[in-house]
Amino acid sequence: MTAEAARALPPSSVIGIVGGGQLGRMSAMAAARLGYRTHVLADEPDAPAAQVAGAVTIGAYDDPATLRRFAEAVDVVTFEFENVSADGLELLAALCPVRPAGAILRISQDRLAEKGFLAEAGIPLAPWHAVGTRAELDRAAAALGLPFVLKTTRLGYDGKGQRVVAAASALNPAFEALAPRPLVAEGYVDFACELSVMVARGLDGTIRAYDAVQNRHRHHILDLTLAPAPVTPEIAEAAVALAVRVAEALSLVGLLGVEMFVTRDGSLLVNEIAPRPHNSGHWTLDACPVSQFEMHVRAVAGLPLPPATRHSDAVMRNLVGPDDMALWPAIVATPGLLPHLYGKREARSGRKMGHVNRLFPKGGLPGSFGIEAALGPLARRQVEQDLDTGAESLPGDRTRT
Ligand code: AMP
Repeated sequence: MTAEAARALPPSSVIGIVGGGQLGRMSAMAAARLGYRTHVLADEPDAPAAQVAGAVTIGAYDDPATLRRFAEAVDVVTFEFENVSADGLELLAALCPVRPAGAILRISQDRLAEKGFLAEAGIPLAPWHAVGTRAELDRAAAALGLPFVLKTTRLGYDGKGQRVVAAASALNPAFEALAPRPLVAEGYVDFACELSVMVARGLDGTIRAYDAVQNRHRHHILDLTLAPAPVTPEIAEAAVALAVRVAEALSLVGLLGVEMFVTRDGSLLVNEIAPRPHNSGHWTLDACPVSQFEMHVRAVAGLPLPPATRHSDAVMRNLVGPDDMALWPAIVATPGLLPHLYGKREARSGRKMGHVNRLFPKGGLPGSFGIEAALGPLARRQVEQDLDTGAESLPGDRTRT
């Protein structure tokens, strides 16, 4: 047995998952298939991941007693979201292996830390400036020109995440509306499209990257992922290479989603990273022998990472809120649609309830109209507007993808 194989968690070990959402749920299901048990730390008993885990601890993610109890019951800890306090991460790391490492979470949970790290690693980004004061905002505006984007640095603060500043008169209101400070001001990218790449890195340093995919948003929430991204092979390869560079720069052990913009001249800028399974990787559940969730579990458990092969082309459409759920009977009645539901009882507006994958023969991904037709009851009527512009206005809040 090699040293790496010796470090692999044996079957029946317990993988601790911090977070009760759908990413944890689908990770727990993949873990079960590999013979692992999962123990979920969630803040409510009926959370999507808690419904499928072998054991559940209910409590606050920053409560030391809860974290200690949880860490003592598991063999390794991973996350389905990034927002665990620095103290909480330290406490967990003192009790068991934490993968990905807390340092990576700290980078990804703060946009300024993330941009600083990526810039240092030579990863191309839109121009950006930290904005702590009103005077710094003026300096950022002068340097970036109008329009630019002003964002909070931390996820989901009170639903107030970002503003496009298109006129000097919008500087004050945007500054007042966003908190906490510092904020980050970013050049507005007039992108041709948005891509993402899921990349995994194992305990032994093996890197596996799935093909680059294109993401299209609707009402500021991920709506459609196209796998593979309909871009030139050069752009697709460059996107994968960029994601691999980020994973290596982080010395990642685990899974990472890297979101990027393709600019009008075909170059790539990284927008943000997420060291966990990602909504834009859900297509891998049906189009790949090894899904992003199995890859995540394998990396976290120290198992070998198989190639991130794709056997089919695919589209993934999110099921959001009551409108999409009203279509559920039609969705399950449509052959070819592969539905995944997250077990959420209440279909609130804007809430991700599940997703549907639709496979196509490899190389056979149709154009926008063909995709919509293949989605049957989920077809959007405004195909041209939704699909062919690609770009949407900026969200008023940050929705985790
Ligand atoms: P984020 O929360 O940073 O992922 O941003 C959410 C969405 O807003 C992205 O997927 C883009 O569609 C858009 N966006 C974010 N930053 C910029 C930017 N600097 N320029 C143009 N669009 C942006």
